[in-house]
Amino acid sequence: MSGEEPIIEPEVEVSSTSSLAEEVLKLGERVSSIDERVSGLESRVEALEELFKGLASAVEASGRVAAAAALIGSWKASTCMFNREGVCVAWRIRSPEGFGESVVEVDGVLRLRVSEAPELCAFCPLYQARRGVRGGAGGEA
Ligand code: SF4
Repeated sequence: MSGEEPIIEPEVEVSSTSSLAEEVLKLGERVSSIDERVSGLESRVEALEELFKGLASAVEASGRVAAAAALIGSWKASTCMFNREGVCVAWRIRSPEGFGESVVEVDGVLRLRVSEAPELCAFCPLYQARRGVRGGAGGEA
């Protein structure tokens, strides 16, 4: 038998155990690198979630401020002695910029049309209640 060809032989190349160990080591390194990146992404996602929560509550708060301004402004606009037929005569506007359609010219003076934008009255320091308005000049107490 010696010197004769073996009667069977492998069709595929058998990897050595050392090259398999190297491949496993490389795979382990890649998995650990991917794991680190995933951890980094998770912490970024958490930071973004916190940011969105903060933004959502800020938007909610600004919505409440806008709703309060509309409510209080409507009452002030309807009871202020300076509101003449929907136009405020207490303020002169130098430039209509920033007021949109709420500015109207009356006798050559730019005024605020508070009937269309009553929220402007909400923050107005010149407000004075008309007579007859609860707490107003000469009105009921
Ligand atoms: S509350 Fe101010 S802005 Fe509004 S009508 Fe009175 S004075 Fe004008």
